[in-house]
Amino acid sequence: MTSHKPFLIKTITLAIAICCFKLTIAQSDKFRAIIVVEDSIIAHGSHVIFPLLKDTIKIGDNNIAIIDLSNPKNRLFYFTWTGWNSKIFRFDSDSASDEIRKVKVPDTSFYRQFQQKNICPVCLKSRFLIPIVYSFPTEKMFNKAKRNKLRLGGCIIYCYSAKFYCKKDNFEF
Ligand SMILES: [Zn+2]
Repeated sequence: MTSHKPFLIKTITLAIAICCFKLTIAQSDKFRAIIVVEDSIIAHGSHVIFPLLKDTIKIGDNNIAIIDLSNPKNRLFYFTWTGWNSKIFRFDSDSASDEIRKVKVPDTSFYRQFQQKNICPVCLKSRFLIPIVYSFPTEKMFNKAKRNKLRLGGCIIYCYSAKFYCKKDNFEF
């Protein structure tokens, strides 16, 4: 009878160890985030954009975006608020860490590397990119814009103004 005891203790110890391990790396198939601008949580008007689905959802009044990663087409997304974009999120699986992430907009440092490499951060290609030009447009610029060779960005340029436009993804960065 007593010979079963060590086995039982080992089994229980192993079960507890597995539970503890799972707790420390808690994973979820839901990605949860709040949007922040200069450390303030954005209350209204932020959206999540899914380029693969060409779909947009509004973030609800509780300010927490919940993205279901079990759908593979939901695994590429970014957040936007009044034209300012977060970084692009890209998941290979349905597993995200089980916490509420703070996502900042605009994320200019994320996009700088793509501007330098001339690569679209959504499709990761360069052949659909055209430059965005900021100045009072000349006739030549108008013609180029008509032929989709450049995009007119208006007369005012800010430090976070987009430099490129991807014609495939309809995305400025
Ligand atoms: Zn693109």
